[in-house]
Amino acid sequence: MREVSGGGMVDGQILVALPITGARFPIASAAKIPYHAFVPVDVRSQTQDELKTQFAAWGQPAYRLTQSLEWLYVHRVTAWEQMTNLPKVLREQLRAAYTLNSLELARKQGSRDTTQKFLWKLVDHSLIESVLIPANPALYGEASDRHTLCVSTQVGCAYGCKFCASGLDGWKRNLGVEEIVEQVLAVERWNEKEPGNQADADGEVRPHPSPLPLLRQKHFGGQAQESGLPNQELENAEVRPHPGPLPQERGLSSERLVSNLVIMGMGEPLANYDNLLKALRILNAPWGGGIGARKITISTSGLAPQIRKLAEEPLQFRLAISLHGATDAVRGQIMPVNRKYPISELAAACDYYQAKKGRMLTFEYILIHGVNDGLDQIKPLAVLARRLNAKINLIPYNKVEGLPWERPSEETQEAFLAALEREKITATLRREKGHDIDAACGQLRLRTERELATTA
Ligand code: SAH
Ligand code: SF4
Repeated sequence: MREVSGGGMVDGQILVALPITGARFPIASAAKIPYHAFVPVDVRSQTQDELKTQFAAWGQPAYRLTQSLEWLYVHRVTAWEQMTNLPKVLREQLRAAYTLNSLELARKQGSRDTTQKFLWKLVDHSLIESVLIPANPALYGEASDRHTLCVSTQVGCAYGCKFCASGLDGWKRNLGVEEIVEQVLAVERWNEKEPGNQADADGEVRPHPSPLPLLRQKHFGGQAQESGLPNQELENAEVRPHPGPLPQERGLSSERLVSNLVIMGMGEPLANYDNLLKALRILNAPWGGGIGARKITISTSGLAPQIRKLAEEPLQFRLAISLHGATDAVRGQIMPVNRKYPISELAAACDYYQAKKGRMLTFEYILIHGVNDGLDQIKPLAVLARRLNAKINLIPYNKVEGLPWERPSEETQEAFLAALEREKITATLRREKGHDIDAACGQLRLRTERELATTA
């Protein structure tokens, strides 16, 4: 059991364990007793090593763990019963020791270029978002087989950037390891179940002439997997099922619908450091997601100490810094975090990351009309980019309902890009995919929460 402070809820049940203090005071003052809530550990928050220890304690042979991991990360099962080649006794042990919670789809939107946004409901009914972006827009019905998934790390955000929908209602909680991992699995599960359906710009689901490619099924445990789950196996079969190929041999990354991750959804990833890193290790591991570390980009508003910490990680994640202003005056106006970690401090942490990791840095720079799109930002931006050997992603601002900010005209955007190019800086101007579906994270959740509040 994982112990968390401050209370918790699972499946609508409040799980509270009062300490056995022997204290003698009336029930009415019980609320003052410090308490801990116990939230069961989800199996998808566990590394192979952690599970190995547990399987060994149960006296289960190693191949049973290989089979279990394949059920979780290849077949993405949502119930223990679906692990049909495990003996019943092992399934019961797993059920008693772990939860197997999946994300529930609350709402889905897709845009014309097939960028698709998923709003998930968590066990405590919080809402989070993931956005699936095809590598090449599926124009004229052509489907792309490489997809980037934009993943959330918190419910809400505490950093309150003035332009962002995610922080508007503040921070609610960190996501657990499994809630981060599950975003990838749940999107792939959805895709597999509904390959012929893609939502249009209005969110209306309609058949698509050229479906998203199905995740190819592999032979698993010696059984053909062309469609769905393997044949039911006798619960206590005498025959030892073939454990299937070793996870290292599977080469999962080439088969997943999701081949790249950007940790740019709701929340500040580095403020949920431990859970994020554990989730990314699971999503990277050959026995888990099999997604290469270089295909994973973590975006941060600039938490300098955590950037230094990340530099010490052995995995080579890419790092994106949400800069949005090249001087403290401009950045401080829209990003309160700049008061805590001004540009000099942020740049020093990035120097450190750069020195440890090599060329892995990108600056994200949203262009907001009349705020940070002036050519006065070019020189300091170029100085920073040269110093850190960083490339720059210019992103036209996505309008957020209720906020006054606007994207600049296309001429202004192009002029900003051209000025950077004159400084010999590598920069790209992104045409936001999914602009028409509130693709900047936090917006669908905000809208849904507000709709729910007005209809309540
Ligand atoms: N908290 C992290 C990651 C999540 S935000 C961070 O700030 O980096 C991911 C990116 O989306 C950030 O670069 C953020 O500045 C940007 N963003 C937020 N709101 C936006 C909007 N309305 N239009 C365009 N980009 C936006
Ligand atoms: Fe939080 Fe990032 Fe939005 Fe800022 S931009 S409020 S850090 S999610």
